[in-house]
Amino acid sequence: MFQTKLFWLKAFGIDAYTYDSKHFKGIQHQVSSAATEIEAARLLVYNAARLKESNLPYIKQAAMAKWYSSVVATNVTSKVVEWLGGVGFTKEFPAEKYYRDCKIGTIYEGTSNVQLNTIAKLVDAEYRS
Ligand SMILES: Cc1cc2nc3c(=O)[nH]c(=O)nc-3n(C[C@H](O)[C@H](O)[C@H](O)COP(=O)(O)OP(=O)(O)OC[C@H]3O[C@@H](n4cnc5c(N)ncnc54)[C@H](O)[C@@H]3O)c2cc1C
Repeated sequence: MFQTKLFWLKAFGIDAYTYDSKHFKGIQHQVSSAATEIEAARLLVYNAARLKESNLPYIKQAAMAKWYSSVVATNVTSKVVEWLGGVGFTKEFPAEKYYRDCKIGTIYEGTSNVQLNTIAKLVDAEYRS
């Protein structure tokens, strides 16, 4: 999604990183935040996978990765629609599809509420032990 967004920004002649910052500093900072959120989500996923592959407890980390990745997908795709402006809202560009699609991450394979229940239960158990 992020790559797609950069592609479309470039299609509009906007390079989010090299553009004269006088007008696009705000966008540049948002892109930086989005890139950092994506990186953090990816590392949570890798950490949960690493623990599972090592036969170590991983349920809390997997729930954190699932929940946080859904949050990031929602935040970032929403921003991408905004960055593209009015056309981002139309079906002419893929951004609106990704924005709709990202909602599924909060529902299937354990809803976000259920992931938070799992995290809370495991954090609670850690502090009681
Ligand atoms: C596109 C799509 C693909 C799917 N693919 C599959 C699939 O391949 N295999 C499969 O088995 N299922 C699949 N599902 C089903 C999916 O896993 C369920 O929709 C999901 O588990 C939520 O269950 P539900 O729809 O019954 O909602 P509900 O369980 O009724 O939840 C409704 C709301 O209540 C909240 N909620 C429910 N219980 C609690 C609780 N204890 N604490 C706090 N909040 C709670 C939920 O977070 C949610 O916000 C798919 C669903 C969709 C939309």
